[in-house]
Amino acid sequence: MEEREAILEVRGLRKWFGGVHALDGVDLEIYDGEILGIIGPNGSGKTTLFNVVAGVHKPTGGSVTWMGEDITGKSAESMAGRGIIRTFQQAMAFEDLTVRDNVGIACQHRPRSVLADQEYEGLANPEEIIEFVGLSEFADEKATNLGFGNLRRLGVGIAIGGHPQLLMADEPAAGLNDNETADLSRLIESIRERGVTVAVIDHDMNMMMNICDRLVVLDFGQKIAEGDPSEVRNDPKVLEVYLGEDLAAAAD
Ligand code: ADP
Ligand code: MG
Repeated sequence: MEEREAILEVRGLRKWFGGVHALDGVDLEIYDGEILGIIGPNGSGKTTLFNVVAGVHKPTGGSVTWMGEDITGKSAESMAGRGIIRTFQQAMAFEDLTVRDNVGIACQHRPRSVLADQEYEGLANPEEIIEFVGLSEFADEKATNLGFGNLRRLGVGIAIGGHPQLLMADEPAAGLNDNETADLSRLIESIRERGVTVAVIDHDMNMMMNICDRLVVLDFGQKIAEGDPSEVRNDPKVLEVYLGEDLAAAAD
């Protein structure tokens, strides 16, 4: 990864909620075309990191640079206009609308700037996106009638409709069974194959070890480790945070 270009640079990022230092001076890079995993215990600041980068929250301090441009504190719309798009832990679908209409709305709200600059191969219209996320047979189904795994796929489809250049997925495997998680892992990898950079938060260490090129570990709002997944899972600081559980066993 030596030669790769960082599309996103976070420097000294802080987000304080009153006395809670959710992010307390985080530095990190996201490289073009990678799948970056963010792990850490509950409350370590992972979701807050995505929210600040996606413009949902303004940072207390520090900076966010996107392809050389200082975008610190810009609005969510402004971030989305640059192709920085996050998914939510709860799928943000209109329940009474069909899969097709939900993805269609996401595509209609795609920022013009993104539409003009970057058409990625075959994912320009709702039908292609629905097929890509594996929901063709449910296209006419209302979101409310979808099972949990399919609803999660719809959430990904809605995010893709916004035409991300950086897709940030927050706990996409939460609540999924092993088969659904394996399908989701393949979907994330295929998104990256389309040229979209992916940052993913998840507690499923097996999935994270398998799909991530790199891991960043947060604890109490600070980065305590980063690097190759196989190195990170053996890092004493990381093992201590996880009490040696899951991590060492995962992906063996
Ligand atoms: P994670 O996603 O790693 O579980 P979060 O980023 O959600 O962690 O939370 C980090 C810390 O910030 C937690 O202590 C959480 O309670 C706090 N926090 C997150 N969002 C808010 C908010 N909107 N208001 C107040 N505190 C918050
Ligand atoms: Mg979270």
